[in-house]
Amino acid sequence: MDKPAICGGTPVRETKLFYGHQYIDDADIQAVVEVLKSDFLTCGPKIQQLEERLCEVTGAKYAVVCSNGTAALHMACQAAGIGQGDEVITTPITFAASANCALYCGAKPVFADINEETYNIDPNQVEKLTNERTKAVVAVDFTGQSVQLDELLAHCRKNHLVLIEDGAHVIGTRYNGKCNGSIADMTTLSFHPVKTVTGGEGGAVLTNSETYYQKLLLYRAHGITRDPQWMEHEPDGPWYYEQVALGMNYRMTDMQAALVNSQLDKLPMFSQRRKEIVKAYNEAFAGLPQIVVQKEIPESDTTRHLYILRLNPSKLKIDRKQFFEALGAENICCNVHYIPTYYFPYYEKIGYKRGLCPKAEKLYEEIISLPLYYAMTDKDVQDVIDAVTRIAVYYAIDEG
Ligand SMILES: *Cc1c(COP(=O)(O)O)cnc(C)c1O
Repeated sequence: MDKPAICGGTPVRETKLFYGHQYIDDADIQAVVEVLKSDFLTCGPKIQQLEERLCEVTGAKYAVVCSNGTAALHMACQAAGIGQGDEVITTPITFAASANCALYCGAKPVFADINEETYNIDPNQVEKLTNERTKAVVAVDFTGQSVQLDELLAHCRKNHLVLIEDGAHVIGTRYNGKCNGSIADMTTLSFHPVKTVTGGEGGAVLTNSETYYQKLLLYRAHGITRDPQWMEHEPDGPWYYEQVALGMNYRMTDMQAALVNSQLDKLPMFSQRRKEIVKAYNEAFAGLPQIVVQKEIPESDTTRHLYILRLNPSKLKIDRKQFFEALGAENICCNVHYIPTYYFPYYEKIGYKRGLCPKAEKLYEEIISLPLYYAMTDKDVQDVIDAVTRIAVYYAIDEG
């Protein structure tokens, strides 16, 4: 086998391969152009169409689309009634927004450690951290693999907690045959370009609860209602509306809604290709003692948003940083998901210290996110496999 490029070998490929990329076709472009030529750029018919479509795709009763996944989390926390003095349990292996949403509401994020094999939040840790101040759990389907919804829901029901699923990675995944989005109290989605389905920016909250649904509609648009049944006073006239809560402007535009709608036509295709790539990676790495393959719970039929390469430090002469740089030299441009949220200076300043979640911290030291997106060719996939294998074998610690 060739020497790694970082030691002077020829890179596995000449052009850079990035870890994620959107896939936009002519139908997507046409859908956006149609909106631009129409009467409504926002608050138009594309919003309701997308909401109906998301319900069809996921089986949720209600969907409220919004400006991004972070807004979706904020609205979900508000609808759940989270406020000052409350605690919200979440995982540190996620994007910062999963914990920030509790802070937006004046509540305290509490970090529960992960399961070391699936990398998702550990329901036993959630149970240990639950107390009389706990109000909700924000469970993240990390990489697209479903969290243990049965265990988490049972715990939340028993302790009167709201289960919010941060499903930014989860679109296309099923849990026990049901789509994620139709199971937790509320599930949030993101349509950022690195996610499986994109609107440029965009998000949604899915729920089966009419009560949450009405609140989400209010919080999305300033807390303003035009429906007399939610008003405190008699309408002055047909123009009349009332602000009855403190909401935001978290609306999505009709251009974004049209794009997401058009992208959803391709979800089965996106999902299938992602599954193929993950299978190819898993099969290629299963035989390498230097690599640990992420475990999947049998309940989750996963559409993976991220592929996590986990290194086995006891079998490698190099660490994660060196491995990451070696992949870069092969023109495989990776990323790391995620830095534990409480490592960030902002969290340090408000009192969080390292050591809270040892399994999450260990995971962070050992992971690299490999390229994974619909438009990768078989050659791209093979290049990644060749680069990882070449580096892993070259730097293997000799067993003899
Ligand atoms: C992307 C992401 C978000 C935030 O979504 P935006 O649409 O970028 O605001 C939240 N949580 C997780 C786990 C994410 O990956």
